[in-house]
Amino acid sequence: MKTLKYSRQREAIKNFLSCRSDHPTADIVYRNIKEDFPNISLGTVYRNLSLLADRGEILKLSCGDNADRFDARITPHYHFSCCECGMITDLELSDMEQINQLAASQFNGKIYGHSLYFYGVCETCAKKVQKTS
Ligand code: ZN
Ligand code: MN
Repeated sequence: MKTLKYSRQREAIKNFLSCRSDHPTADIVYRNIKEDFPNISLGTVYRNLSLLADRGEILKLSCGDNADRFDARITPHYHFSCCECGMITDLELSDMEQINQLAASQFNGKIYGHSLYFYGVCETCAKKVQKTS
């Protein structure tokens, strides 16, 4: 892989992400990075996030119609997306490899992996729904 010119901005973006476990959008990253880099644009932040994702240094998550979310945790794991409040949280499931094997048993090509997210209502939203009904 081509080595990339060091960028303080990109490093700051990566550092910011590694302190967060809530999978922020580009907009949230932008608003925080702007405090240290007042002249940075949302476009630049988005470009850097995409670049980091392409290089496998962060994950870019697309869950439904929501804006892309970013994650500094790059070890394979699943996500849950709340249909009410839009929160995205890690969902710990073992045996991600089993799904690949299951798919491979139905398919003559080669399975490299899968991309999957769960959706529903989070615990907080589920409690609210109970109260109002
Ligand atoms: Zn929720
Ligand atoms: Mn995650």
